[in-house]
Parts: sequence; C-alpha cells; structure tokens
Amino acid sequence: MVEELLRSKFLGALVGTGVGDSLGAGFEGWGRVALDKIEQVAQMRKTLTYTDDTHMMIGMAESLIRSKGFDGEDMAYSFVRNYELEPWRGYGPAPPHIFRLVRNGVSWDQAAQRFYDGGSYGNGSAMRIAPIGVFYHDKLSLLREVACESSRITHAHILGKEGAVLQACAIALATNLESPSALDRGAFLAELTDFAQDDVYRQKLATIKQILDNPDESRVVIELGHGIEAFNSVPTAIYCFLSEPGSFTRAVLLAISFGGDTDTIAAMTGAISGACLGIDSIPEQWRSKLENRHYIEELANKLYDLYLDTKKLGEK
Ligand SMILES: [Mg+2]
Repeated sequence: MVEELLRSKFLGALVGTGVGDSLGAGFEGWGRVALDKIEQVAQMRKTLTYTDDTHMMIGMAESLIRSKGFDGEDMAYSFVRNYELEPWRGYGPAPPHIFRLVRNGVSWDQAAQRFYDGGSYGNGSAMRIAPIGVFYHDKLSLLREVACESSRITHAHILGKEGAVLQACAIALATNLESPSALDRGAFLAELTDFAQDDVYRQKLATIKQILDNPDESRVVIELGHGIEAFNSVPTAIYCFLSEPGSFTRAVLLAISFGGDTDTIAAMTGAISGACLGIDSIPEQWRSKLENRHYIEELANKLYDLYLDTKKLGEK
C-alpha cells in the first residue's frame, strides 16, 4: 500500500474515534434519533468535546509511542495519569477504583479482576483500541495478544477482552483495504468470525450478515444491541461500518441514530470507517471542531512513523 494512504488510515482511525465519540456524546441513553437531527446538533456545537473513549485512546497511543510497542504497565500508568488530570471525561464507575489500586501498587494485570466478579465485560477496552488496530494491522496474531493484554488493564472478563480483540481486528481489516470498493462484506465478516473465539460474538456476526442481506434496521438494537456491554455494542459498530462502507458521515450518523451507548458505538464505528476511508473522509466541519485535534493527529503521525521504523527493523 502507498505510504501516504496508510498514514491517512492511521489518522482516520484515531481522529475518527474522536469525532464519533464527541458527536455521539450528546445522545447517550436516547432511543432512535433521526439523522438530520444529529447533524443539526453537530452544526450548532462550537467544539466537539470528547469523552473517556477518546481520552483513553489518547493514553493508549501515547504509551505505544513511548514504549515503542505494547507495555502493559506503561499503558496502565498512561491511563491513570490522564484520568487524574481530567477525571471529568465521563468515566464509568470501575476505572477510577482500578486506577487507585494501580497507584497503590497493585499490578496492572491484577487490579481489574477485583471488579464485577472476575472482571468487566463492558465496552471500555474496545472503545479505545484504534491505536492497536492500526499499529498491528499486518500482524493479526500479535494484534490479538496485545488487544487482549490491553483489555486486562480495565476489562478482565473474557467477553470484554474478546470485544476489544474483535474491534481491533475490524480496524485492522479496514486498514488493509486498498479502497472501500475492495470490500467484500461477506469475506470481511467471515474473517472476523474465524478470528472470534467466543460463540456470543460468532452468533452476533452471523446476525450482522443476515441483516445486511435482508435489510431490517429494526433488528439492530434488538438483536445486536446498543448497550454498554462489549457484545452489545462492538457488533453494532461493525454493522454500521458495513452498512455504509463508503461514507464516514453516514456510518457514524447511523451509529448514533440507534441510541443507547451512542458515544462509544459511534467512536468504534468512526475508528473502523476512518481506518478504511482515511482522514479525508471525515468532514472538515467536524474535524476542525474536534477538541485537541492537532494533538490526536500528532499521535497518529508518530504512531505511523513508529510503525514504519518497526517494519524496517523487522525487514533487516
Ligand atoms: Mg464515553
């Protein structure tokens, strides 16, 4: 793939997370919302302020760049420090407790197991996964391992870890596409299904195929979900991307239109769509209003430079 196209995909996945998250943030807990209503609200906002999804995605990118790859302890402290600086970003109930345990010396890979009887299966480790999805896009077995380990920092339940793995894989497959016209939705879902290790996700992927083959949007919320559980939101984001593979705008608006956990489902949809279509697919009117846009772009560029360096070292 041409280098500049791949760089654009790294940028698209990270900025796409931020734009999806901040656009979806005003609609959390709503039911179905009309697309033009969402666009109107977006137009009225002066700044697109992101939430914990993007805040943690930033922490993940910072750590990958600093450590030149995945280092669990460094990533955990990256999340902890960012949370301490801006605790008002809409974090769920468990992360602040987990971060306090880590600060008090509990190991990064043990703290999260103390919550929700063996760990959370919320979507918090999938929502932030874009940097791992693009950085490891051409090494899927390493991507699985790293996505899983990164999830353990806050979401230790197998279904939480698998959600992060599946979302990272969807971002990687989207990164690998030369263009949206190269997308074969059946093949994309078949690859994800082979990659998924849990039947809960395999069944959801089969349902996505059915809904795409016989479009019926009323099935999306009922059967794929729009909740905070990873298995009730990652498949919905994958559906939204596959339903509108040629348009970042339509994919993200569709994700928000289903209501529920809109910031996270739109953040995950934006990550996959941005990885497929690149940074230029994200409307300038949204990109320009995204809070800390330049910093997020700087992180994406540094992550891409690191990817190139690592690749060159591997080829020697
Ligand atoms: Mg959020």
